[in-house]
Amino acid sequence: MFPPIREELRGLEPYGAPQLDVPVQLNTNENPYGPSEACVADIAASVAEAARGLHRYPDREHVALRTALADYLARDTPHGIAVEQVWAANGSNEVMLQLLQAFGGPGRSALSFAPTYSMYPEYARDTSTTWVQGRREGDFSLDLQAAAALVREHRPSVVLLPSPNNPTGTALPPEAVTVLCEAAASSEPQGLVVVDEAYGEFRREGVPSALELLPVHRNLVVTRTMSKAFAAAGLRLGYLAADPAICDAIRVVRLPYHLSAVTQAAALAALRHAPELLGKVDELRGERDRTVSWLREQGLQVADSDANFALFGTFADRHAVWQDLLERGVLVREVGPAGWLRVSIGTPAEMAAFRQALSDVLVREE
Ligand code: PMP
Repeated sequence: MFPPIREELRGLEPYGAPQLDVPVQLNTNENPYGPSEACVADIAASVAEAARGLHRYPDREHVALRTALADYLARDTPHGIAVEQVWAANGSNEVMLQLLQAFGGPGRSALSFAPTYSMYPEYARDTSTTWVQGRREGDFSLDLQAAAALVREHRPSVVLLPSPNNPTGTALPPEAVTVLCEAAASSEPQGLVVVDEAYGEFRREGVPSALELLPVHRNLVVTRTMSKAFAAAGLRLGYLAADPAICDAIRVVRLPYHLSAVTQAAALAALRHAPELLGKVDELRGERDRTVSWLREQGLQVADSDANFALFGTFADRHAVWQDLLERGVLVREVGPAGWLRVSIGTPAEMAAFRQALSDVLVREE
Protein backbone atom coordinates (compact mmCIF):
# COMPACT_ATOMS: atom_id res chain seq x y z
CA MET A 1 0.00 0.00 0.00
CA PHE A 2 1.18 3.53 -0.74
CA PRO A 3 1.59 5.90 2.22
CA PRO A 4 -1.35 8.08 3.25
CA ILE A 5 -1.30 11.63 1.98
CA ARG A 6 0.44 14.11 4.33
CA GLU A 7 -1.57 14.72 7.49
CA GLU A 8 -2.30 18.39 6.73
CA LEU A 9 -3.68 17.51 3.28
CA ARG A 10 -6.10 14.83 4.41
CA GLY A 11 -9.69 15.32 3.28
CA LEU A 12 -8.89 18.52 1.35
CA GLU A 13 -10.42 19.24 -2.05
CA PRO A 14 -8.24 20.61 -4.86
CA TYR A 15 -8.65 24.36 -5.47
CA GLY A 16 -10.62 25.45 -8.51
CA ALA A 17 -13.82 27.01 -9.75
CA PRO A 18 -16.38 24.68 -11.33
CA GLN A 19 -15.61 24.37 -15.06
CA LEU A 20 -19.17 24.18 -16.33
CA ASP A 21 -20.19 24.35 -19.96
CA VAL A 22 -22.46 27.39 -19.77
CA PRO A 23 -23.15 29.98 -22.52
CA VAL A 24 -22.01 32.97 -20.43
CA GLN A 25 -18.93 32.17 -18.32
CA LEU A 26 -18.13 35.03 -15.98
CA ASN A 27 -16.53 33.12 -13.13
CA THR A 28 -12.73 32.97 -13.47
CA ASN A 29 -11.72 36.54 -14.37
CA GLU A 30 -10.56 35.48 -17.80
CA ASN A 31 -10.34 37.94 -20.65
CA PRO A 32 -13.34 37.26 -22.93
CA TYR A 33 -11.45 38.34 -26.05
CA GLY A 34 -9.28 35.71 -27.68
CA PRO A 35 -6.13 36.73 -29.53
CA SER A 36 -6.47 38.12 -33.09
CA GLU A 37 -5.74 35.89 -36.09
CA ALA A 38 -2.45 37.77 -36.59
CA CYS A 39 -1.43 37.01 -33.01
CA VAL A 40 -2.50 33.36 -33.35
CA ALA A 41 -0.43 33.04 -36.55
CA ASP A 42 2.60 34.62 -34.87
CA ILE A 43 2.32 32.26 -31.87
CA ALA A 44 1.92 29.25 -34.18
CA ALA A 45 4.98 30.22 -36.26
CA SER A 46 7.06 30.82 -33.13
CA VAL A 47 6.01 27.50 -31.64
CA ALA A 48 6.83 25.73 -34.93
CA GLU A 49 10.31 27.25 -34.78
CA ALA A 50 10.68 26.14 -31.15
CA ALA A 51 9.49 22.65 -32.13
CA ARG A 52 12.53 22.26 -34.39
CA GLY A 53 14.73 22.50 -31.31
CA LEU A 54 12.67 20.36 -28.94
CA HIS A 55 15.38 17.70 -28.70
CA ARG A 56 17.30 20.27 -26.59
CA TYR A 57 16.34 21.63 -23.18
CA PRO A 58 15.10 25.23 -23.28
CA ASP A 59 17.02 28.30 -22.09
CA ARG A 60 16.91 27.72 -18.33
CA GLU A 61 17.34 31.42 -17.68
CA HIS A 62 14.70 32.39 -20.29
CA VAL A 63 16.71 35.52 -21.03
CA ALA A 64 14.92 36.57 -24.23
CA LEU A 65 11.56 36.34 -22.48
CA ARG A 66 12.76 38.16 -19.35
CA THR A 67 14.17 40.92 -21.55
CA ALA A 68 10.82 41.33 -23.32
CA LEU A 69 8.97 41.31 -19.98
CA ALA A 70 11.34 43.94 -18.55
CA ASP A 71 10.66 46.15 -21.60
CA TYR A 72 6.95 45.67 -21.16
CA LEU A 73 7.03 46.52 -17.43
CA ALA A 74 9.07 49.66 -18.08
CA ARG A 75 5.86 51.33 -19.28
CA ASP A 76 4.60 51.37 -15.71
CA THR A 77 7.59 52.94 -14.00
CA PRO A 78 9.80 55.91 -14.83
CA HIS A 79 12.78 54.06 -13.32
CA GLY A 80 12.98 51.23 -15.89
CA ILE A 81 13.30 47.51 -15.12
CA ALA A 82 16.48 45.51 -15.77
CA VAL A 83 16.42 41.95 -17.07
CA GLU A 84 18.13 40.75 -13.84
CA GLN A 85 15.12 42.03 -11.90
CA VAL A 86 12.67 39.81 -13.77
CA TRP A 87 11.79 36.17 -13.21
CA ALA A 88 9.03 34.15 -14.91
CA ALA A 89 7.29 30.83 -14.27
CA ASN A 90 4.18 28.88 -15.22
CA GLY A 91 1.58 31.40 -14.02
CA SER A 92 1.98 33.87 -11.19
CA ASN A 93 0.72 31.09 -8.93
CA GLU A 94 4.00 29.28 -9.58
CA VAL A 95 6.00 32.49 -9.12
CA MET A 96 4.46 32.99 -5.66
CA LEU A 97 4.89 29.33 -4.73
CA GLN A 98 8.57 29.64 -5.66
CA LEU A 99 8.83 32.75 -3.48
CA LEU A 100 7.51 30.78 -0.52
CA GLN A 101 9.75 27.81 -1.36
CA ALA A 102 12.72 30.16 -1.22
CA PHE A 103 11.70 32.46 1.63
CA GLY A 104 9.05 30.58 3.63
CA GLY A 105 9.30 27.14 5.21
CA PRO A 106 9.17 25.59 8.69
CA GLY A 107 9.57 28.16 11.47
CA ARG A 108 8.64 31.01 9.14
CA SER A 109 5.32 32.66 8.36
CA ALA A 110 3.44 34.31 5.51
CA LEU A 111 0.71 36.88 6.05
CA SER A 112 -2.16 38.41 4.11
CA PHE A 113 -5.40 40.25 4.84
CA ALA A 114 -8.77 38.55 4.26
CA PRO A 115 -10.91 38.50 2.23
CA THR A 116 -8.26 37.79 -0.35
CA TYR A 117 -7.07 35.31 -2.96
CA SER A 118 -7.76 31.84 -1.63
CA MET A 119 -4.60 30.30 -3.07
CA TYR A 120 -2.33 32.23 -0.68
CA PRO A 121 -2.88 29.93 2.32
CA GLU A 122 -2.34 26.99 -0.02
CA TYR A 123 1.15 28.20 -1.00
CA ALA A 124 1.89 28.47 2.72
CA ARG A 125 0.50 25.01 3.49
CA ASP A 126 2.41 23.39 0.63
CA THR A 127 5.71 24.91 1.77
CA SER A 128 5.10 24.20 5.49
CA THR A 129 5.00 27.93 6.18
CA THR A 130 2.82 29.17 9.06
CA TRP A 131 -0.17 31.12 7.75
CA VAL A 132 -1.16 34.37 9.48
CA GLN A 133 -4.37 36.06 8.43
CA GLY A 134 -5.11 39.71 9.10
CA ARG A 135 -8.34 41.32 8.01
CA ARG A 136 -9.61 44.10 5.82
CA GLU A 137 -12.12 46.73 6.86
CA GLY A 138 -15.82 46.62 5.90
CA ASP A 139 -15.08 48.48 2.65
CA PHE A 140 -12.19 46.02 2.00
CA SER A 141 -9.53 48.69 2.54
CA LEU A 142 -6.66 48.19 5.00
CA ASP A 143 -6.32 49.93 8.34
CA LEU A 144 -2.65 50.72 7.73
CA GLN A 145 -1.68 51.22 11.35
CA ALA A 146 -3.28 47.91 12.39
CA ALA A 147 -1.80 46.13 9.34
CA ALA A 148 1.70 47.42 10.08
CA ALA A 149 1.31 46.44 13.76
CA LEU A 150 0.35 42.91 12.72
CA VAL A 151 3.42 42.67 10.49
CA ARG A 152 5.66 43.90 13.34
CA GLU A 153 4.04 41.40 15.73
CA HIS A 154 4.37 38.29 13.53
CA ARG A 155 7.47 39.26 11.55
CA PRO A 156 6.39 37.22 8.50
CA SER A 157 9.00 36.29 5.91
CA VAL A 158 6.47 37.11 3.20
CA VAL A 159 3.50 39.49 3.13
CA LEU A 160 1.13 38.84 0.22
CA LEU A 161 -0.63 42.00 -0.83
CA PRO A 162 -2.80 41.79 -3.94
CA SER A 163 -3.60 45.09 -5.60
CA PRO A 164 -6.19 45.02 -7.06
CA ASN A 165 -7.34 42.42 -4.58
CA ASN A 166 -9.27 39.29 -5.56
CA PRO A 167 -12.20 38.80 -4.93
CA THR A 168 -12.95 42.39 -3.95
CA GLY A 169 -11.38 44.25 -6.92
CA THR A 170 -10.07 46.99 -4.65
CA ALA A 171 -6.60 48.49 -5.23
CA LEU A 172 -4.27 49.69 -2.47
CA PRO A 173 -2.96 53.24 -2.31
CA PRO A 174 0.85 53.57 -2.69
CA GLU A 175 1.09 54.54 1.02
CA ALA A 176 -0.10 51.04 1.91
CA VAL A 177 2.81 49.47 0.06
CA THR A 178 5.25 51.90 1.67
CA VAL A 179 3.90 51.41 5.20
CA LEU A 180 3.99 47.61 4.90
CA CYS A 181 7.41 47.50 3.22
CA GLU A 182 8.75 49.62 6.07
CA ALA A 183 7.05 47.46 8.72
CA ALA A 184 8.43 44.29 7.09
CA ALA A 185 11.89 45.86 6.83
CA SER A 186 11.92 46.76 10.52
CA SER A 187 12.48 43.15 11.61
CA GLU A 188 15.75 41.29 11.26
CA PRO A 189 15.89 39.51 8.87
CA GLN A 190 13.60 41.72 6.78
CA GLY A 191 10.34 40.33 5.40
CA LEU A 192 9.39 40.51 1.73
CA VAL A 193 6.26 42.33 0.59
CA VAL A 194 4.78 40.79 -2.54
CA VAL A 195 2.36 43.11 -4.32
CA ASP A 196 0.36 40.77 -6.52
CA GLU A 197 -0.67 42.84 -9.54
CA ALA A 198 -2.34 40.01 -11.47
CA TYR A 199 -5.02 42.57 -12.43
CA GLY A 200 -2.66 45.56 -12.50
CA GLU A 201 -3.37 46.56 -16.09
CA PHE A 202 -7.07 47.05 -15.31
CA ARG A 203 -6.53 49.70 -12.63
CA ARG A 204 -8.30 53.03 -13.07
CA GLU A 205 -6.60 56.19 -14.32
CA GLY A 206 -4.34 57.71 -11.67
CA VAL A 207 -3.80 54.50 -9.66
CA PRO A 208 0.00 53.91 -9.85
CA SER A 209 1.67 50.51 -10.05
CA ALA A 210 3.85 49.36 -7.15
CA LEU A 211 6.60 48.96 -9.78
CA GLU A 212 7.33 52.66 -9.25
CA LEU A 213 8.38 51.89 -5.66
CA LEU A 214 10.94 49.19 -6.49
CA PRO A 215 13.94 51.53 -6.26
CA VAL A 216 12.78 52.70 -2.80
CA HIS A 217 12.11 49.32 -1.12
CA ARG A 218 14.60 46.49 -1.59
CA ASN A 219 12.16 44.08 0.05
CA LEU A 220 9.38 44.75 -2.49
CA VAL A 221 8.37 42.17 -5.10
CA VAL A 222 5.75 42.93 -7.76
CA THR A 223 4.11 39.97 -9.52
CA ARG A 224 2.17 40.08 -12.77
CA THR A 225 0.57 37.56 -15.13
CA MET A 226 -0.25 37.16 -18.80
CA SER A 227 -3.48 35.35 -17.81
CA LYS A 228 -5.70 38.42 -17.55
CA ALA A 229 -4.74 41.57 -19.48
CA PHE A 230 -2.89 39.54 -22.13
CA ALA A 231 -5.82 37.20 -22.64
CA ALA A 232 -3.46 34.26 -22.24
CA ALA A 233 -4.73 32.27 -19.25
CA GLY A 234 -4.11 29.07 -21.22
CA LEU A 235 -0.46 29.96 -21.77
CA ARG A 236 0.45 29.80 -18.05
CA LEU A 237 2.93 32.62 -17.79
CA GLY A 238 3.44 34.75 -14.70
CA TYR A 239 6.42 36.87 -13.70
CA LEU A 240 7.87 39.17 -11.08
CA ALA A 241 10.05 42.23 -10.80
CA ALA A 242 12.28 42.60 -7.73
CA ASP A 243 15.82 43.05 -6.53
CA PRO A 244 18.11 40.70 -8.57
CA ALA A 245 19.10 38.93 -5.31
CA ILE A 246 15.48 37.75 -4.98
CA CYS A 247 15.57 36.27 -8.50
CA ASP A 248 18.84 34.53 -7.59
CA ALA A 249 17.22 32.98 -4.52
CA ILE A 250 14.33 31.63 -6.61
CA ARG A 251 16.83 30.13 -9.04
CA VAL A 252 17.88 27.78 -6.23
CA VAL A 253 14.40 26.28 -5.79
CA ARG A 254 13.00 26.32 -9.33
CA LEU A 255 12.88 23.01 -11.16
CA PRO A 256 15.44 22.79 -13.93
CA TYR A 257 14.02 24.06 -17.25
CA HIS A 258 10.70 24.89 -15.59
CA LEU A 259 9.57 27.05 -18.53
CA SER A 260 9.23 24.94 -21.66
CA ALA A 261 10.60 26.12 -25.00
CA VAL A 262 7.01 26.15 -26.28
CA THR A 263 5.86 28.41 -23.43
CA GLN A 264 8.78 30.78 -23.91
CA ALA A 265 8.19 31.03 -27.67
CA ALA A 266 4.44 31.55 -27.32
CA ALA A 267 4.85 34.17 -24.57
CA LEU A 268 7.41 36.11 -26.61
CA ALA A 269 5.05 36.08 -29.59
CA ALA A 270 2.10 37.25 -27.46
CA LEU A 271 4.23 40.07 -26.02
CA ARG A 272 4.91 41.32 -29.54
CA HIS A 273 1.15 41.85 -29.79
CA ALA A 274 0.90 43.76 -26.51
CA PRO A 275 -0.63 46.94 -28.03
CA GLU A 276 -3.46 44.97 -29.65
CA LEU A 277 -4.13 42.83 -26.57
CA LEU A 278 -4.03 45.80 -24.22
CA GLY A 279 -6.45 47.71 -26.46
CA LYS A 280 -9.08 45.27 -25.29
CA VAL A 281 -8.19 46.10 -21.68
CA ASP A 282 -9.47 49.64 -22.23
CA GLU A 283 -12.77 48.25 -23.51
CA LEU A 284 -13.02 45.95 -20.50
CA ARG A 285 -12.34 48.80 -18.08
CA GLY A 286 -15.21 50.73 -19.66
CA GLU A 287 -17.50 47.72 -19.43
CA ARG A 288 -16.41 47.22 -15.80
CA ASP A 289 -17.28 50.79 -14.85
CA ARG A 290 -20.67 50.48 -16.58
CA THR A 291 -21.34 47.18 -14.79
CA VAL A 292 -20.46 48.65 -11.39
CA SER A 293 -22.78 51.65 -12.02
CA TRP A 294 -25.60 49.41 -13.20
CA LEU A 295 -25.33 47.13 -10.18
CA ARG A 296 -25.43 50.16 -7.87
CA GLU A 297 -28.50 51.46 -9.72
CA GLN A 298 -30.18 48.16 -8.81
CA GLY A 299 -29.66 49.08 -5.16
CA LEU A 300 -26.87 46.55 -4.68
CA GLN A 301 -23.59 47.14 -2.87
CA VAL A 302 -20.54 46.93 -5.10
CA ALA A 303 -16.91 47.14 -4.04
CA ASP A 304 -14.89 49.76 -5.96
CA SER A 305 -13.17 47.82 -8.73
CA ASP A 306 -9.77 48.35 -10.36
CA ALA A 307 -9.88 44.82 -11.78
CA ASN A 308 -11.76 42.96 -14.52
CA PHE A 309 -14.48 41.80 -12.14
CA ALA A 310 -16.86 43.23 -9.59
CA LEU A 311 -17.93 41.94 -6.17
CA PHE A 312 -21.58 42.65 -5.50
CA GLY A 313 -24.23 41.81 -2.93
CA THR A 314 -25.35 41.29 -0.45
CA PHE A 315 -27.82 38.44 -0.64
CA ALA A 316 -29.41 36.57 2.25
CA ASP A 317 -28.96 33.37 0.21
CA ARG A 318 -26.20 33.96 -2.30
CA HIS A 319 -26.13 30.34 -3.35
CA ALA A 320 -29.75 30.60 -4.48
CA VAL A 321 -28.91 33.70 -6.57
CA TRP A 322 -25.85 31.94 -8.05
CA GLN A 323 -28.02 28.93 -8.91
CA ASP A 324 -30.80 31.07 -10.41
CA LEU A 325 -28.25 32.86 -12.62
CA LEU A 326 -26.81 29.51 -13.68
CA GLU A 327 -30.24 28.30 -14.68
CA ARG A 328 -30.40 31.37 -16.95
CA GLY A 329 -27.09 30.38 -18.56
CA VAL A 330 -24.87 32.79 -16.62
CA LEU A 331 -22.05 31.44 -14.46
CA VAL A 332 -20.66 33.79 -11.79
CA ARG A 333 -18.49 32.94 -8.77
CA GLU A 334 -19.70 32.24 -5.29
CA VAL A 335 -16.67 33.56 -3.47
CA GLY A 336 -15.66 36.12 -0.87
CA PRO A 337 -17.42 37.13 2.32
CA ALA A 338 -20.87 35.71 3.06
CA GLY A 339 -23.60 37.25 0.92
CA TRP A 340 -21.41 38.48 -1.94
CA LEU A 341 -20.99 37.21 -5.51
CA ARG A 342 -18.27 38.02 -8.03
CA VAL A 343 -18.84 38.62 -11.72
CA SER A 344 -15.99 38.76 -14.26
CA ILE A 345 -16.29 41.37 -16.99
CA GLY A 346 -17.12 39.81 -20.36
CA THR A 347 -18.06 41.16 -23.77
CA PRO A 348 -20.91 43.71 -24.05
CA ALA A 349 -23.22 40.88 -25.18
CA GLU A 350 -22.23 38.71 -22.20
CA MET A 351 -22.76 41.59 -19.79
CA ALA A 352 -26.17 42.30 -21.32
CA ALA A 353 -27.06 38.63 -20.70
CA PHE A 354 -25.80 38.97 -17.12
CA ARG A 355 -27.87 42.13 -16.52
CA GLN A 356 -30.97 40.49 -17.97
CA ALA A 357 -30.53 37.34 -15.89
CA LEU A 358 -29.84 39.25 -12.68
CA SER A 359 -32.81 41.58 -13.27
CA ASP A 360 -35.06 38.51 -13.60
CA VAL A 361 -33.63 37.00 -10.44
CA LEU A 362 -33.93 40.24 -8.43
CA VAL A 363 -37.58 40.67 -9.49
CA ARG A 364 -38.29 37.11 -8.43
CA GLU A 365 -36.58 37.70 -5.09
CA GLU A 366 -38.70 40.77 -4.24
N1 PMP B 1 -3.19 36.39 -8.14
C1 PMP B 1 -4.49 36.67 -8.12
C2 PMP B 1 -4.98 37.75 -7.21
C3 PMP B 1 -5.37 35.94 -8.93
O1 PMP B 1 -6.68 36.21 -8.89
C4 PMP B 1 -4.86 34.92 -9.77
C5 PMP B 1 -5.73 34.09 -10.68
N2 PMP B 1 -7.02 34.02 -10.49
C6 PMP B 1 -3.50 34.68 -9.73
C7 PMP B 1 -2.69 35.43 -8.91
C8 PMP B 1 -2.85 33.56 -10.50
O2 PMP B 1 -2.92 33.70 -11.86
P1 PMP B 1 -2.01 32.89 -12.85
O3 PMP B 1 -1.39 31.74 -12.13
O4 PMP B 1 -2.93 32.48 -13.94
O5 PMP B 1 -0.95 33.86 -13.30
